[in-house]
Amino acid sequence: MSPSEPVVHVAFLPSAGMGHLNPCLRIATLFLRHGCKVTLITPKPTVSTAESNLVSRFCSSFPHQATQIDLNPATVNTNDPFWLQFETIRRSVHLVAPILSSLSTPLSAFIYDISLISPLVPITQKLSCPSYMYFVASARMFSFFAHLHVLAASDPSSQPHPSSFIGDGVKIPGIASPIPRSSVPPLLLQPNSLFESIFMEDSAKVTKLNGVFINSFEEMEGEALAALNEGKVVKGLPPVYGVGPLMTCEFEEVEQGKGGCMGSVLEWLDEKSEGSVVYVCFGNRTATRREQIKDMALGLTESGYSFLWVVKLKGGDKEEEEGLEDVLGSKLMSKVKEKGMVVKEYVYQMEILGHPAVGGFVNHGGWNSIIECVWQGVPILSWAQGGDQKIASEAVRISGVGIWPQEWGWGSEHVVNGKEIADRIKEMMENESLRVKAKEMKKAARNAAGVGGRCEVIVKKLIEEWKKNV
Ligand code: UDP
Repeated sequence: MSPSEPVVHVAFLPSAGMGHLNPCLRIATLFLRHGCKVTLITPKPTVSTAESNLVSRFCSSFPHQATQIDLNPATVNTNDPFWLQFETIRRSVHLVAPILSSLSTPLSAFIYDISLISPLVPITQKLSCPSYMYFVASARMFSFFAHLHVLAASDPSSQPHPSSFIGDGVKIPGIASPIPRSSVPPLLLQPNSLFESIFMEDSAKVTKLNGVFINSFEEMEGEALAALNEGKVVKGLPPVYGVGPLMTCEFEEVEQGKGGCMGSVLEWLDEKSEGSVVYVCFGNRTATRREQIKDMALGLTESGYSFLWVVKLKGGDKEEEEGLEDVLGSKLMSKVKEKGMVVKEYVYQMEILGHPAVGGFVNHGGWNSIIECVWQGVPILSWAQGGDQKIASEAVRISGVGIWPQEWGWGSEHVVNGKEIADRIKEMMENESLRVKAKEMKKAARNAAGVGGRCEVIVKKLIEEWKKNV
């Protein structure tokens, strides 16, 4: 950029959890790489150390202005530290207005987390600042989220709850396969849960945004992206920008690749033959419940494949007090050690998925993980644990890059036995059509994110638009 060119300045505000922070920082990096000035507003403290470490690495990698907001703790009825943090950040956004209005370079756009729409729209309107949201799940899920208030409006009751107006499921205009009630995030069907209140309030406000960023792309979710952008899902919806696949950035790679357990993980993988290892990880906030752990171990050992298993006995990344051996017993534990490597720390997932030895990924339907896996061309076995994960798993199934055993239900519903797990792992590892589709999707993903690809076209177009107002 020449010194006389106007400075496009974009501010970002993420919410809790790596699944919300990673896409935020990856989008921020896209704009930094195209010459924009970026201000990152980060809530303090974070729930996990993985989040605070990543923010520090981002800040030291880029010469930008980082501002922290010290949160006003919220007391709400939830035991989930991430949900508590979502609400805490929502209730602290009044601290954001003075930061935005005191910035020395005028702001071209403010891009913030999905969970902050309602409190931030009035603030950005008052400051006449274009307001964008980044959505952390699939385009299919966004269609459901955006369409929710249309369904609510057709409910005659004074206080409509999704538990009553959703019925057997939802048919979203422009999207062929309906979302059955059994796939709806369980907390949304719990009247007066925090999830329900945020979703209901924010769904009605999406038309007030200037645009929505989403980590998806045409070949993966063409139908949903088209339905959203053609006004079929909701009339008056702003543009939905499929900027996916959002890729990992240097500040994630360099530091994480060196530290912690990654050295021994990579050494272990290096000894395995191509495509022979099953990688298992359920994101950074989902614990596998105790009752399931034994059958999980049985399934992995009975599959016959080597496996790298990232085990979480507790949510988040707090110290795990209990060892896996306490849960499995010494006999099963020694079987696990014969074929597998078990890790309890936060790993650098993208590097693992990109290792030639990895031939399949058992995951929890976390959308970031799915897109990272698609980027590396590895087939997926999606085992939805909660939230949007069945809707994400359906997107995996439709795209052809993985399988979703629907009969397994939610992670907390019932224990899936070891034999079923082993059979599905074998299916994922041995199904040739999955492998072919995953490779095709990898190629499409790299085109979308590459030089001159869709993501770059979108970013450049937005920057040109914003420049007109500088
Ligand atoms: N992640 C990672 N190492 C871990 C666990 C998670 O790098 O040990 C990253 C993963 O690559 C992804 C994010 O954390 O970018 C998790 O997001 P996702 O949407 O997959 O699941 P969530 O944790 O939000 O349920």
